[in-house]
Amino acid sequence: LLQAHDVHLSFGTTPALRGAGIAVHEGEILAVMGPSGSGKSTLLHCLAGILVPDRGEILFDGRRVDRLGETARSSLRRDTFGFVFQFGQLVPELSAEENVALPLLLAGVRRTKALTEARAWLDRLGLGDLGRRTSGELSGGQAQRVALVRGLVARPRVLFADEPTGALDSLTGEQVMDLMVTVARDEGTTIVLVTHEPRVAAYADREVVVRDGKVLALTAEPVG
Ligand code: ATP
Ligand code: MG
Repeated sequence: LLQAHDVHLSFGTTPALRGAGIAVHEGEILAVMGPSGSGKSTLLHCLAGILVPDRGEILFDGRRVDRLGETARSSLRRDTFGFVFQFGQLVPELSAEENVALPLLLAGVRRTKALTEARAWLDRLGLGDLGRRTSGELSGGQAQRVALVRGLVARPRVLFADEPTGALDSLTGEQVMDLMVTVARDEGTTIVLVTHEPRVAAYADREVVVRDGKVLALTAEPVG
């Protein structure tokens, strides 16, 4: 579904990716592990069309993402990808359900419908009670689950999750991962999950390790 071939990217004179290659298969949860500074987030940003590599190819559904202009890449991100980051990054002024509704509003869904859909997702995932609260009234784990629902509400083909449990204790992290896996299986969402926690990576179907800007395969490619 999503591939990087021989991707190089430097920030000034700092090389972040040096010939990274990866293939993400449709419907899988792929964990990207590796030491701090190895290039995990940079690789995720290249796959997601946030950064354009200096050299190499990014393919989504056979399309060269790295050749798209900024407008086409931002449409791709909005219409096809979902995101969740380490610190949920909810908009503090908005309620939980308004936060969840945001991707739908950006996609042009009318406010009433977007809020109804946001509430339905929160209800379905057992978070309905949190809908009216602002992010200041949520615990870290609650906020992160709301951020996860926001990443999923527009039914993305791929969810990019960068250290989604990084700011949480292990029990709360497990709740976030349980929710992520449940939705991924129900909806068939492909997930690229960056984490340095083996317990979190254990939720994935497959793991790769990034080291010095290159990808080392850890577990075998699935058969078939
Ligand atoms: P961590 O586990 O700490 O999040 P990471 O594996 O995600 O690390 P990256 O954030 O991809 O690592 O960084 C790879 C390299 O690129 C590092 O040397 C980092 O300092 C550098 N780097 C990343 N982002 C930038 C930036 N915006 N400007 C300059 N250098 C950067
Ligand atoms: Mg990172």
